[in-house]
Amino acid sequence: MSQQQNYADFHRRSIEDRDAFWNEQAQLIDWKQPFSRVCNYDNPPFARWFEGGLTNLCHNAVDRHLKDRADQNALIFVSTETDVEHVYSFRELHAEVQRMAAILQAQGVSKGDRVLIYMPMIPEAAFAMLACARIGAIHSVVFGGFASHSLASRIEDASPVAIVSADAGSRGGKVVPYKPLLDEAIRLSSHKPAKVVMVDRGLAGFERVEGRDVDYGQARIEHMETVVPCEWVDATHPSYTLYTSGTTGKPKGVQRDTGGYAVALAASMKHIYMGEPGETYFSTSDIGWVVGHSYIIYGPLIGGMATIMYEGLPIRPDAGIWWSLVEKYKVSVMFSAPTAVRVLKKYDSSFIKKYDLSSLKALFLAGEPLDEPTAQWISSELGKPIIDNYWQTETGWPILSLCNGVEKADSKFGSPGKAVYGYNVKLLDDQTGEELKGGNQKGVVAIEGPLPPGCMQTVWQDDDRFVNTYWSSVPGKMVYSTFDWGIRDDDGYYFILGRTDDVINVAGHRLGTREIEESISSHPQIAEVAVVGVADQLKGQVAMAFAVLKDASLLTDEAARLKLEGEVMKIVDGQLGAVARPSRVQFVNVLPKTRSGKLLRRAIQAVCEGRDPGDLTTMDDPAALQQIKDLQA
Ligand code: AMP
Repeated sequence: MSQQQNYADFHRRSIEDRDAFWNEQAQLIDWKQPFSRVCNYDNPPFARWFEGGLTNLCHNAVDRHLKDRADQNALIFVSTETDVEHVYSFRELHAEVQRMAAILQAQGVSKGDRVLIYMPMIPEAAFAMLACARIGAIHSVVFGGFASHSLASRIEDASPVAIVSADAGSRGGKVVPYKPLLDEAIRLSSHKPAKVVMVDRGLAGFERVEGRDVDYGQARIEHMETVVPCEWVDATHPSYTLYTSGTTGKPKGVQRDTGGYAVALAASMKHIYMGEPGETYFSTSDIGWVVGHSYIIYGPLIGGMATIMYEGLPIRPDAGIWWSLVEKYKVSVMFSAPTAVRVLKKYDSSFIKKYDLSSLKALFLAGEPLDEPTAQWISSELGKPIIDNYWQTETGWPILSLCNGVEKADSKFGSPGKAVYGYNVKLLDDQTGEELKGGNQKGVVAIEGPLPPGCMQTVWQDDDRFVNTYWSSVPGKMVYSTFDWGIRDDDGYYFILGRTDDVINVAGHRLGTREIEESISSHPQIAEVAVVGVADQLKGQVAMAFAVLKDASLLTDEAARLKLEGEVMKIVDGQLGAVARPSRVQFVNVLPKTRSGKLLRRAIQAVCEGRDPGDLTTMDDPAALQQIKDLQA
């Protein structure tokens, strides 16, 4: 446990004495060769952390623990979908990762090559990620079961040499075959990976493509004893890309480095999550998301902790399943999302009370706004600190949180806390770029460069997009925009007030409304469409669509409208997945726009949520908004 110190000083030092601060944090990981420079920010906004240093993520997550904890738990796999529970020690994990690394090498994968991982939550997914890190290959995990269209655009962008996948995932007892989705995605993509390594769980039969598809089970037997040493890579060598939605249809490949990421995670385990080596960490996220990368796989393992990888629903076999795991594996740190807690809230609290949760130090929640009633409920049921933390795929670890490992601070419900060390967070006026220093003024949450270690280096193969998207939106200043609105109270606690752009958050999943609009527009009957995020009690937000039809006469034909609504939903399901499916698709004769033709999404959203749409002086045709209002009645 680190000594108590003053957090304000700790944070100030991380900004004002940046290199000395991060030099100290860098000692938390192993270096094959020490770095010669802590931070090279000669070419803003591109930050190069720990230049000259050689290290390896897999070494830090696995190999270095063999000395002290080879037989301790490393990866605890629990599937309530297939009723499998299997615990891997660090020694066993080390062996499995080498086997997977050998299989990848046998497929021609080498340092710098991309490997796309399209997997359910099974141990082989963790082996694959760590194996890539081991040999210096760049992994790109795509959420298992993502629709072919979305998967194809990621294959196209990442141009992987190989893909690692499985026959199927399973959700709520329903098998989701992956192979047909994957084959279709490869068919749609102009880039064709040379090899596909298939893990066969025996859940869904599939067809093998001769010469391309490799059977993992078979290949593993061939490589049982193969030794694959860690490839020492530059600290700045990319470890992975992870695609995230923005305001355009094309997803962005968030590119992360190696050394900075390892240091950031190691430091966060100490100062934020307070997980000690030998303890157990349980993050309920999925490896397809950033939380899964940082806090199912790399963070806990780097910190010498066991990590639980859970495949299944939080309410199956009953709403006590997660807490039973906390008891059984003596979980000390737990990380989940507000949506999951809102789901659990619908069940009897005896599901929590019946387990011994004495090992648990705190529950961390992130990914979407944590509303006060949800926070209050779980706090009183658990009787443990509930710590909201705010971050993004881009940053890889929290921007705002409470750093209780440095100095204990009280949570304020509704706030994810204060600026985390390393982040020079500012609230800026979106029109003038001026800093808003006074308390409780609403501004854009921005970060002054350099971004701390562990944050995105760039957009994969698109430096211009990195600069133009993230660093050019505030007038007169080159600062990183989070695209979130926020306020800060006099104690330095921030409150997040929603996105400044057209990104919505459905049950913790980030979606660009433009993506959904593009998908809907591919229906031949749709002339124009607006998609907005509307507040929802359970999911935080849901997508709602308003479309203009090419053939206006259909507007009065109810049967035709219902049929079209179903067709549109099916298209979105197929292209983007069920999470993006609008809760309603309603048809109008015109969409509300400004006189210059800009869609008034915010006014539509306000009307759908029963709020005042605000200043409408720039609106072209007031009847357009009225029509949407009438549809809500
Ligand atoms: P993602 O990159 O998918 O993790 O989404 C990041 C976005 O989710 C942020 O820009 C916020 O809009 C939202 N978000 C994440 N964590 C929080 C939080 N603790 N409170 C409020 N919003 C959050």
